[in-house]
Amino acid sequence: MAVRPIRIYGDPVLREKSRPVGDAAEALRLLAEDLVDTMFDAEGVGLAAPQVGEPVRMYVVNLGAIAPELFLDRRGPSLEGEPEHLVLVNPRVVKREGAQTGDEGCLSFPDLYEKVTRPEVVRVEATDLDGRPIEIEGSGLLARVLDHEYDHLEGVLFIDRLSKLRQQFIRGKLRKLKESGQAD
Ligand SMILES: [Zn+2]
Repeated sequence: MAVRPIRIYGDPVLREKSRPVGDAAEALRLLAEDLVDTMFDAEGVGLAAPQVGEPVRMYVVNLGAIAPELFLDRRGPSLEGEPEHLVLVNPRVVKREGAQTGDEGCLSFPDLYEKVTRPEVVRVEATDLDGRPIEIEGSGLLARVLDHEYDHLEGVLFIDRLSKLRQQFIRGKLRKLKESGQAD
């Protein structure tokens, strides 16, 4: 169990396309534990493996931070009871519906919050660390997190979802972040 440094915008690992997870080796369990510890330490709602420097297809969600009514469907042993967090291995987005616009941030962009439009409903299929299937469908914040974290696995960052005009407007902030990210 360990809290790892979170990679900041400008770190090239955030732009990599993550590779699929093969057998759930011990190293993956340790990575999942570290992701969970790091997410809770940073008080995040979600965290993807590339954000701690590992470009593999895995992310975690802080379920305790999400209102119960936003869970539209949840299936799989790791979603039974009231788990505090969820580990999604090799996730695939199988549904995106509607649209919502709201404030969004990212642990790889300290102190940057922007209005981002995302689907209102998102459904993800994945497996847990034991290879057992997970299905989760959510709206509102849950949909936003599922989609945002999935983007990380594709090397896509939330600023990419802003208008070109807005990207221009915050370019000074982004430049400063990038310099700090590359300095690490
Ligand atoms: Zn993020």
